[in-house]
Amino acid sequence: MSKERTLSIIKPDGVEKGVIGKVIGRFEEEGLKPVAIRMARLSQAEAEGFYAVHKARPFFKDLVSFMTSGPVVLMVLEGENAVAKNREVMGATDPAKAAPNTLRKLHASNIEKNTVHGSDSADNAKVEIAYFFPETAISAYEWKR
Ligand code: UDP
Repeated sequence: MSKERTLSIIKPDGVEKGVIGKVIGRFEEEGLKPVAIRMARLSQAEAEGFYAVHKARPFFKDLVSFMTSGPVVLMVLEGENAVAKNREVMGATDPAKAAPNTLRKLHASNIEKNTVHGSDSADNAKVEIAYFFPETAISAYEWKR
């Protein structure tokens, strides 16, 4: 087990539903420590760049439109196996297929408006974190709990 970082986003549907606190609280309970947090309204160019890997997919245009429809919460989470742990806590992309008590099962509306993003590999996490946060915006601290 090694300490790792991952990028998390509370998507516009999560912000609009008022579950920012619930989502961050769950991450803390699960051992995922927020080390950088910022709220932002993504520009079209930022959303297109972030999801560039999905550019050829049929859902790309709608996804960019959704991700720019309202503010998001951008976060860096740190913890043991943070990438896999975050994916486990988020649940499957489609909330209908997500395991009980996962964030997407609890809060997501559908396969697009699915409340949270989480990096899917350690390499992608590094790229995604750098996309939104300079290293100087990430805080080092230890939990005492
Ligand atoms: N998405 C969508 N329709 C689909 C598949 C994905 O709108 O059929 C959206 C959804 O918001 C998802 C994002 O595109 O979270 C990225 O898709 P990916 O397959 O990478 O899923 P994730 O890693 O977010 O679970």
